[in-house]
Formats: sequence, structure tokens, C-alpha cells
Amino acid sequence: ATPTAILVGTGRGAQLGIFLKGPQALESTRALDTVVFDKTGTLTEGRMRVDEIRAGAGSPPDEILAVAAAVEQASEHPIAAAIVAAGPDRPPSVEDFEALAGLGARGRVGRREVLIGRPRLLAEHGYPPDPDLDEERHRMEAQGTTVVVVGWDDRVRGLLAVTDQVRPTAAAAVTALRQLGLTPVMLTGDNPRTAAAVAEAVGIDDHDGGVIAEAMPEDKVEVVRRLRSQGRTVAVIGDGINDAAALAAADLGIAVGRGTDAAIEAADVVLGRDDLLIVADAVELARRTHRTIR
Ligand code: ADP
Ligand code: MG
Repeated sequence: ATPTAILVGTGRGAQLGIFLKGPQALESTRALDTVVFDKTGTLTEGRMRVDEIRAGAGSPPDEILAVAAAVEQASEHPIAAAIVAAGPDRPPSVEDFEALAGLGARGRVGRREVLIGRPRLLAEHGYPPDPDLDEERHRMEAQGTTVVVVGWDDRVRGLLAVTDQVRPTAAAAVTALRQLGLTPVMLTGDNPRTAAAVAEAVGIDDHDGGVIAEAMPEDKVEVVRRLRSQGRTVAVIGDGINDAAALAAADLGIAVGRGTDAAIEAADVVLGRDDLLIVADAVELARRTHRTIR
């Protein structure tokens, strides 16, 4: 494309709420055939809420919530914000906090050594499973709920069910991209049951490799590399620190406007409005712009 065409493209793009960073972005947008969506904060609003607390034997729900809030007050994750909001006005303080990207967090609250996050995180630290809580967890996950496991001192203590709203434009955006001939994919760190429920709500096909769950940040990069090595031209849309490397590895990295600084920095395109439909608009615009200058 000529510089003039890029100017036209970005000018009109800016009106739509699309900011293309650099001339290559227009070219990549035109050539896209695959769009990889992050789930939490991208297909969903990322404004999460604690809906349910399940305590294991011997731990009162109030204690579970207070201890969880104590650890999460040091975290930047959208799940953490929900837990802090649900917790006591003044949670106990946390020491030796550590964020474990794609897994959860740890910290010391009083004398408790606390782990909070994915079931895998606690299992990896040798916490024995709690069959009753596992059954509860599977039931909640099947409904699209993200379940956070709270444990301390080598015992799983309880579960927090965290829900998020699917973005109002997500399903229409997936449909619009399909109509343009693109293949939508969901790539998430969350568990397969929750991922499948959200995928179904937005119309992403779980059956032919369209949903990839339990992906660590480095797995997300691998998936993007693999798709590209198959000859696909790939956009990644994400919001989180955990998406930054995948955004950078894509032909076109798209950051959701209110995403984290790390995501916005790594992206080629920033969505000015939190409206996923403008991704399809951008593809149409790029194709049109390309035709105009030929
Ligand atoms: P996504 O890819 O859906 O945006 P992440 O990679 O950020 O999700 O996180 C993957 C999973 O790790 C979350 O679904 C959650 O179960 C867990 N997790 C990550 N950070 C935290 C945290 N601070 N507190 C609790 N759970 C967390
Ligand atoms: Mg996310």
C-alpha cells in the first residue's frame, strides 16, 4: 500500500475507533484468515463478580473470603478485583505476595501460607484433592463460571465462583468475521468446561479445534506460531499481561482498548471502543482500502 492509502485507511479507521500502529498493520488486516480471541476480558467484559462461596469441612466461608481478599489485594488480575470487592472492608494484610501468571497467586496471611487460583496450582503444590469440592467445582464450571480454589497450609479450604458477562457484541462479532470468511478461535487460560460454555454463547465451534483452554501464556504463543506455520494469517485479540507475548507473535495483535498496558504496548491495533464488531469493520475497511489504491 502507498502511504496515502494508509492515511485514508487510518483516518477512516480512527472514526470507527480503530488505531492502526504502523503501515504493516493495514496490510496484515487485509490478509487475515484466522482470529484468535482471548476469553476473559476480551469475549467477556472482564468485570467479574463473586457469586458463590463453597467452604470445605472446617473452614467458615467468611474466613475463606477474607484470606482470599487479603492475597488478591496485591494482584492486578480481574478475578482479584472481584474477590477484593466481595471481601471485608479491611482485609488482613498479605506478606511475600507473588503473582503466578496464568495460574493464580500466593502469599502469607497471618500464619497461613495461602495459595489461590487454578486447581492445577494447588495440585502442583501437593495439596490433596477434596472430592466433594471437586464435584461442586465441575458443576459450577459447566455453567460457564470460573472457579477459584482457595487453600492454605496444604489443604484446600474452599471455592469462589466468579462470573463475568459475555460482551454484548461478542456473538455478532464472531458471526461477522465468519461472513467475511475468517475462522474464529478461542484461546484461554481458563478451564475447558468454562471455555466451552462461553464458546457456545458466542458461536465459536468447540468441535474442530476452535476452543483451546488451560493455555499458559507461553502456550498461547505456541498456538499462534503453529497456526502461522500452517500458512494462516493470524490476528490475536487480547487484554491481559498474559496475552502480550501472543499479541506480539501474531501477524496482527489487537488490544482491547481498556486492556492492560502490556497488551496495548504489544499490539499493532488498539480498539478505541470496547466493541468487538469493529474488528470485522477493520477487515472490511482494509480490504476496501487495498482495492481503492490498485
Ligand atoms: P485468560 O486467558 O482467560 O484471560 P489468565 O491466563 O489470566 O486467563 O488466567 C488463567 C486462570 O488462572 C484463570 O482462569 C484463573 O483460574 C487463574 N488465575 C490467574 N490469576 C489469578 C488470580 N490472581 N487469582 C485467582 N485465579 C487466578
Ligand atoms: Mg484476558
